[in-house]
Amino acid sequence: MPDNSEQHSLRMVRKKSVVDAAIARADQDKGLLLVLTGNGKGKSSSAFGMVARTLGYGYKAGVAQFLKSRRDTGEERFLGDQPGVQWHVLGDGFTWDTQNLDADIATAKRGWDVAKALLSDDTLHLVVLDELTYLLNYGYLDADQVCRDLASRPPMQHVVITGRAAPDCLLEIADTVSEIRDVKHAYRAGVRAQPGIDL
Ligand code: ATP
Ligand code: MG
Repeated sequence: MPDNSEQHSLRMVRKKSVVDAAIARADQDKGLLLVLTGNGKGKSSSAFGMVARTLGYGYKAGVAQFLKSRRDTGEERFLGDQPGVQWHVLGDGFTWDTQNLDADIATAKRGWDVAKALLSDDTLHLVVLDELTYLLNYGYLDADQVCRDLASRPPMQHVVITGRAAPDCLLEIADTVSEIRDVKHAYRAGVRAQPGIDL
């Protein structure tokens, strides 16, 4: 049964005091580590939304895309050209061939060197490490070393890491973790990737 108007205002007053108290408690600033993981769609696009927010304040952002061979995504077309954005595609050399494991590891390490340069640049308000989790899960990069490099970044720099199956060590050091669940995806109904939505 719906609240009558008096019950409703009482409930709203109580809710407001809880919300106000929570807002008053959250009075710290810090560079955050966010992990966006899970099998559902929306990880990378959320990260690029934060790049747009960052640029909206006149701050700078760096993006490192691991495991991307296709370069014609809408986010790169638009954000890659914006002043204040450094955009690096670091996955071009992956072979997907276990015969070339050494080459893949070398590509991953070269990519991580670029990421480390972003993580030591304190003019960058935000760094996105897109699809990084795969390199950790395949063992191309040493997760402990990656976590140490993340920990030694400038204290006010935010970092967003995307990719399925984020390893536990990353979840432990992250400040914010979201797992996006795959409820339904149009691809399984035969719809190809749509520009502006999927790429
Ligand atoms: P997006 O870039 O759209 O935010 P994502 O980063 O969460 O997606 P990825 O695993 O990186 O997801 O995959 C990128 C591409 O694969 C996108 O075109 C996306 O629509 C598609 N995709 C993501 N999740 C699924 C899924 N569960 N089934 C089929 N296709 C998917
Ligand atoms: Mg993605």
